[in-house]
Amino acid sequence: MDGAEFSAGRLVAVLTTEPLDRLLDYKAPEDGVSTGDFVRVPLGPRQVIGVVWGPGEGGFDPKRIRSVSARMDIPPMLPAMRAFLERAAEYTLTPLPAMLRLATRAPGLGEAPGARRVYRAGPAEPSRLTPARARVLETVRAHGGLGFSLGDLSAEAGVSTSVIKGLEAQGVLIAGEAPRDPPYPELDAAHPGRALSALQAEAAETLRAGVVSGRYGTTLLKGVTGSGKTEVYLEAVAECLARGRQALVLLPEIALTVDFLDRVEARFGARPAEWHSGASMAERRRCWRAVAEGAARLVIGARSALFLPFRDLGLIIVDEEHDGSYKQEDGALYNARDMAVLRAALGSAQVVLASATPSLESWANAEAGKYARIDLPERFGPAVLPEMRAIDMRSQEMASNTWISPALAAAMRQRLEAREQSLLFLNRRGFAPLTLCRACGHQIGCTHCDARMVEHRFRRVLMCHQCGATAPIPTACPNCEVEGKLAPIGPGVERLAEEVAARFPEARVAILSSDLATTARDLKERIDEIASGAADIVIGTQLVAKGHNFPLLTLVGVIDADLGLQGGDLRAAEKTFQLVRQVAGRAGRAERPGLGLVQTHQPDHPVIRSILSGDEEAFWRSEAAQRMAAGAPPYGRMAGVVVSGPDEARTFETARALGRAAGLLERAGVTLFGPALAPVARIRGRTRVRLLLKAPKGAPLQAAARAWRDSVRPGAGVRVSIDIDPMSF
Ligand code: ADP
Ligand code: ZN
Repeated sequence: MDGAEFSAGRLVAVLTTEPLDRLLDYKAPEDGVSTGDFVRVPLGPRQVIGVVWGPGEGGFDPKRIRSVSARMDIPPMLPAMRAFLERAAEYTLTPLPAMLRLATRAPGLGEAPGARRVYRAGPAEPSRLTPARARVLETVRAHGGLGFSLGDLSAEAGVSTSVIKGLEAQGVLIAGEAPRDPPYPELDAAHPGRALSALQAEAAETLRAGVVSGRYGTTLLKGVTGSGKTEVYLEAVAECLARGRQALVLLPEIALTVDFLDRVEARFGARPAEWHSGASMAERRRCWRAVAEGAARLVIGARSALFLPFRDLGLIIVDEEHDGSYKQEDGALYNARDMAVLRAALGSAQVVLASATPSLESWANAEAGKYARIDLPERFGPAVLPEMRAIDMRSQEMASNTWISPALAAAMRQRLEAREQSLLFLNRRGFAPLTLCRACGHQIGCTHCDARMVEHRFRRVLMCHQCGATAPIPTACPNCEVEGKLAPIGPGVERLAEEVAARFPEARVAILSSDLATTARDLKERIDEIASGAADIVIGTQLVAKGHNFPLLTLVGVIDADLGLQGGDLRAAEKTFQLVRQVAGRAGRAERPGLGLVQTHQPDHPVIRSILSGDEEAFWRSEAAQRMAAGAPPYGRMAGVVVSGPDEARTFETARALGRAAGLLERAGVTLFGPALAPVARIRGRTRVRLLLKAPKGAPLQAAARAWRDSVRPGAGVRVSIDIDPMSF
């Protein structure tokens, strides 16, 4: 290759996705390589993918150093992306190879388009439709546009390749040369958007000015639900596209993407690229490549879209920035909101954090002047914010095993008569959170976890919400073997639905819960049905809190506002405040005014009071004062440490050894708490022991934590995972 940085035979350091803790040295191939090039390298008997990270270190016997096998036909990784991966790895204490894995999660990466054989639906019907064959056909029908390679199709449909070959032999599938991935249609930044209100226009202008500056900056866009935040930030996207840079919109929930893609299409005249776990492998490969080539200009994605190889990313929108699902909770532990800010800072991009109920972190950053802040305090058009009232459960007559108070039932009755919708919010999946034996007091628990089994009546199973294990619902107690004494205790959404059906037999009832709508498409269908008025009463878990628009909905009943306030979590107040305000925000989004009724046993609790008054600034100020006093985030730094292993004694041994090494932390100003058994002391058969690190703001938390962790050799099978800025603590 002309102008290669490293000519043939020179030593280069290559980062691979293999779980090694160092870069590997190779000799540059015949036509040379440059830093950032994607390459294939031999590792033992295998070929693996890597990226040239810089000059090799040397120091080995040069005769034993092998050569790079080939440069791959992929645009090189740019310096800003390499810097981002390095900084993100450092920040989250994740090994760099794991970061590279996040950045290369596209199947068939580097395969030359056109050179692959792919399968499509053929003219024939299968001779016999086995379940495996049905899955293949369904997969091809659902995402068949680009065709599937043999490997992709067998993985995606979960069948062996022989099933596919069999269908090919019958002419049900036909194999052919893969076409080039079709390009994404051009988005028209000048396509006219909606006429904005004066306040919206002013907000849009401020965001646009940020994009025009071409510099890094973060803006908190705080607007009540229905204020038009989306309309406003799409103007910033338009500006970014018009300037020839790429834009990324992150959404917390893939179920929201379907509607969102429609909205973007209405705004820019074409559909943008999408990136999430629900997209097919072929779609993901197409997206990855088009992003790397700069051909995909706008991506709508889940948190992992942040690791796509943008050529020139000018704007990142983080919608519903407070949402907990931006935190990746296994493998690399990162918060996509914080990583978006890091990526933007390294690439001269703008970030917009949009929310009706921002995180305390973002609010504090705006207070401190690190972020700009824009407020949209009113709903667009005639819609007004719902009025909020408490129902003091201490003064309500409740029959046993009922959870809807007379006051709430009366309000629901009124809505039913006026042909308006009611929504009941209860953040508990399943029928009952606990199954108790009335004879011996035994509670049915999971065999793999230190957790209760939750009855799911529709699916007729008991399920563990920690590990997902299921078991049949027994008729006799597994402990004392007495028949007919097992009783469900407490409500879940399914049980609440029973109560609703008994009280309002004429009402049409819909449940929105992740158990009952398992795919994005499924959920979208249910949501559309509800929005069109096909249900009178909707019962939902936190799934209903997120951005859906139900024009006929005028009443929101919060069944148990105290639920989230229990437990020692320092974020409990913030989470409860956000969740209840978000849910209530579903009411009264069209012409009819909304009402939020909040069932509580503690109407004078400060959090409940601020939920009712809606005085958010007051809530944040008091929450900020408490966190400051406790040295908790965002005014101090924390890291949660979980030591886990199959053997309890060995797990504790490692945790105690970490405890004894606390000196390494103290020298850096970091205080260690624990070890202690985690609240859920066993998950999937692994004992879990927790420690907590606390440090003042400026302390070198990561460096100290790394040195501390690396000073102790974990026992056999024991893992130590460190979560910087944990979501709960
Ligand atoms: P948010 O994201 O703040 O909840 P949206 O952008 O979703 O608000 O807007 C809420 C509703 O109001 C949507 O149905 C949207 O189409 C409508 N809307 C907002 N601004 C305008 C506008 N300027 N013109 C027409 N409709 C608007
Ligand atoms: Zn379990």
